Amino acid sequence: MHLTTYIYDVLRTITFKLRLTNQDCKTILDTMRAYSEAFSISAKWGIENQSWNKVDNHNATYKLTRQSIPDLPSSLVQGARDCACEALKAVKCETLPERKPLSAMRYNQRVITVNLVYGLATIASTKGRIKATFFVPSHYRDYLSWIIKSSTISYDRKGKMFYLHVSLEQNDPEKVANLEVLGIDRGIVNIAVCSDNRFFNSKRIKNRRARYAYLRKELQSKGTRSAKRKLKRLSGRERRFVTDVNHCISKQIVNSEYTVFALEDLSKIRVQKRRGKEFDRKLNSWSFYQLEQFVGYKAEALGKHVLLVDARYTSQKCSNCGHIYKGNRDGSAFRCRKCGFELHADLNASRNIAQAGISCLSRLSCQHAKCDTTSS
Ligand SMILES: [Zn+2]
Repeated sequence: MHLTTYIYDVLRTITFKLRLTNQDCKTILDTMRAYSEAFSISAKWGIENQSWNKVDNHNATYKLTRQSIPDLPSSLVQGARDCACEALKAVKCETLPERKPLSAMRYNQRVITVNLVYGLATIASTKGRIKATFFVPSHYRDYLSWIIKSSTISYDRKGKMFYLHVSLEQNDPEKVANLEVLGIDRGIVNIAVCSDNRFFNSKRIKNRRARYAYLRKELQSKGTRSAKRKLKRLSGRERRFVTDVNHCISKQIVNSEYTVFALEDLSKIRVQKRRGKEFDRKLNSWSFYQLEQFVGYKAEALGKHVLLVDARYTSQKCSNCGHIYKGNRDGSAFRCRKCGFELHADLNASRNIAQAGISCLSRLSCQHAKCDTTSS
């Protein structure tokens, strides 16, 4: 089993609502405007000189920026320059990168201090350091051992609120390796099957799906304009139903005692097109992706993690002995030709997914341990 991508594993971003005095709010808004001004000086130089090199940009613009915006702390000038250079690089210097005056500001650790124990931050601004407080939910306590890599401050115009986004890196390889992993297999008959023997399906869902399929077929065969209209309405209703089901299932999965949830990386699979099954295929891949999204953000809210693992052979491989053979699976039955192991096919797949998640975690912690020894 080979891991291709992972999300929310050793790098995480957590967000807090900042509590600030009215005066300090105004100061941060002023700082954001000044930051954008510094950004546009660097962006303009980059376009004129067709370069996204940070050092060249610094040498050419730093003095000018400090003179025209003297209140902006020099670290923020540098932050704005880095952002401008990254934006220039992204468009290959073809168009002038623009920044809205109140876009988020990136802070490096020299210009902001974030204390996750007391929920305190001191933030550099055009009027010196500003103190802000924020509430740290108890389940964020796990992050106290993590290392803060960078912080971003954003402003929500509608709610007139400032948000602090803190990027963290896991610093405990052993902790990473010892996390409990739950494998989740997504399917059509069973919407989700988990490696802890839980099946997510119900008669209600089955009946409803069958009814939608029947109605769809009826309307499709008519082919009139009004039938097409009805068909459109039907697919909207079906989508809302699937969304509801996915919300419900993801909630139950994430609220289990597991801290890591492994799913197949479906972006790597090419689904076979079958005639007449086009709608089913579309709805299914959309529904699979939605379930992944829901598990992802619900897990994140609880400080848990999601891993995406390589999807190859998960249904053909024996979760008992590792033997891979296409004929091992027959519909919903799995029977290993080598060791004779028998299990529900979806459950067997979910156990393979969990296995892939575990080997991915141990690989990550190995890489991490190596990094640590070379840097010290
Ligand atoms: Zn076997």
